[in-house]
Amino acid sequence: MRLILLGPPGAGKGTQAQRLVEKHGIPQLSTGDMLRAAVASGTEVGLRAKAVMDAGKLVSDDIVNAIVSERLDQPDCQAGFILDGYPRTLAQADAIGAMLAAKDMPLSAVVEMRVDDDVLVDRIAGRYTCANCGAGYHDENLKPAEEGVCDKCGSTEFKRRKDDNPETVRTRLQAYYKETAPLLGYYYAKGLLKPVDGMAEIDEVTAQIDNVLASL
Ligand code: ADP
Ligand code: ZN
Repeated sequence: MRLILLGPPGAGKGTQAQRLVEKHGIPQLSTGDMLRAAVASGTEVGLRAKAVMDAGKLVSDDIVNAIVSERLDQPDCQAGFILDGYPRTLAQADAIGAMLAAKDMPLSAVVEMRVDDDVLVDRIAGRYTCANCGAGYHDENLKPAEEGVCDKCGSTEFKRRKDDNPETVRTRLQAYYKETAPLLGYYYAKGLLKPVDGMAEIDEVTAQIDNVLASL
């Protein structure tokens, strides 16, 4: 199963990806995490990314594409993967399409998570993650069973992203509609787009994604 999760920031991509990882045993590929890992392990691409990041610039499509390509060759991706946060631009969508064709790994589906903007702002402003294992939580929608203790690993340390505040969310949403939303038409035309109602409760969204996967 080879999936792309597509939707605005706060739509629930990370939340659903974590569940898909647990259920299907395939990795979640987040380009942000992959960039940090490539820099840490000092691969050639990692060294190029580090120079750009140290200069305070955005990592180019070329570098991100190369990192994804390297990652797709790892053994754990051979049974499938979930791309979360990539592709973000039409250029990246063309690049991943060419890569997957060359590797003979066609996409199974692109799951679109639809959520209204006002709800996105509330979700992003309330989200935080376990500092140890990365499990995602929300002040109202998804609290740990025991307050202040991670359900998954028992850690009591949590963190919030600096850009998760109502002001920057509006800017990030504009970037999404300008750069990423055109991918919806792109994948619709390829017959791959599968919309789900991201406004529903977390378990209900999971059930809708399960239905999509069962229909493939
Ligand atoms: P993304 O990865 O798309 O940016 P997240 O998965 O981080 O989004 O979700 C953003 C926040 O909204 C998280 O705090 C998460 O717990 C919460 N959330 C995710 N899905 C839902 C949902 N269906 N209903 C309510 N809250 C949700
Ligand atoms: Zn944890």
